[in-house]
Amino acid sequence: MARILLRFSESIVEEPIIAQIILELKVPINIITAHVNSKGGEVIAEVPNEALDKVVKAFRQRGALVSIPKLIEVDSEKCISCGACVTLCPVEAIKIDEDKTVVFDKEKCIGSICSTCVDACPTRAIKSVKQNNAEATTNSKQ
Ligand code: SF4
Ligand code: SF4
Repeated sequence: MARILLRFSESIVEEPIIAQIILELKVPINIITAHVNSKGGEVIAEVPNEALDKVVKAFRQRGALVSIPKLIEVDSEKCISCGACVTLCPVEAIKIDEDKTVVFDKEKCIGSICSTCVDACPTRAIKSVKQNNAEATTNSKQ
């Protein structure tokens, strides 16, 4: 599955765009987080890798802004197991296991729109990395 960040402006936020695309393309789209009000909305969703290009195109055709959030990578050589990233992660995507190793759960991470752990790490052990499928999609029509 690939994660996409969708932004809906005030003029389209009340349209059932996600439901329309699910029905039209017959593709499952899982909502991970959604912050929506009458002024606009920001949604992180998961879509199957093989359907990513057509889903992105369909959202853009309806006026949504689409980007691919980067995920993170932890360099265990630099980590001092301080726990700052674990404490601050809003979705419990990082934990420290019994041998003091940081374990990152990419299924939970919401990526570069968060980046809380990247900024918090005192030793710069965490960095943002692109999803494997990000290149092709970000190069297509915005
Ligand atoms: S980027 Fe945010 S969601 Fe992802 S692991 Fe870091 S703190 Fe957690
Ligand atoms: S904040 Fe950095 S140094 Fe501290 S536990 Fe997390 S990765 Fe390791």
